[in-house]
Amino acid sequence: MAQLEATEVAKNTALECMQMMGGYGYSTEFDMVQHVRAALGATIYGGTNEIQRDIIGNSFGLR
Ligand SMILES: Cc1cc2nc3c(=O)[nH]c(=O)nc-3n(C[C@H](O)[C@H](O)[C@H](O)COP(=O)(O)OP(=O)(O)OC[C@H]3O[C@@H](n4cnc5c(N)ncnc54)[C@H](O)[C@@H]3O)c2cc1C
Repeated sequence: MAQLEATEVAKNTALECMQMMGGYGYSTEFDMVQHVRAALGATIYGGTNEIQRDIIGNSFGLR
């Protein structure tokens, strides 16, 4: 649950920062894109957040 929450917060924060920076945030000339990529990766490479939700739901007896 902690991993799910932390990675969702990181993803949403990175996307908000990119949005706030406008074109500079989106441009590959600046670091923001790398931060977004890193944050999105964290919702995938440690076991995807969809599967994390599935595991958490199962642990509560939800199917
Ligand atoms: C940079 C990086 C580093 C990695 N390092 C490691 C490592 O050190 N050790 C290791 O073991 N693996 C590692 N991986 C692999 C990583 O764990 C897998 O990429 C990840 O588990 C997703 O598996 P997949 O890529 O086969 O996607 P898939 O399983 O094909 O999933 C594709 C999409 O479908 C969704 N999905 C799949 N099944 C379900 C379901 N039942 N319900 C709902 N949604 C579903 C997934 O959430 C995802 O969004 C790494 C991956 C990356 C990108």
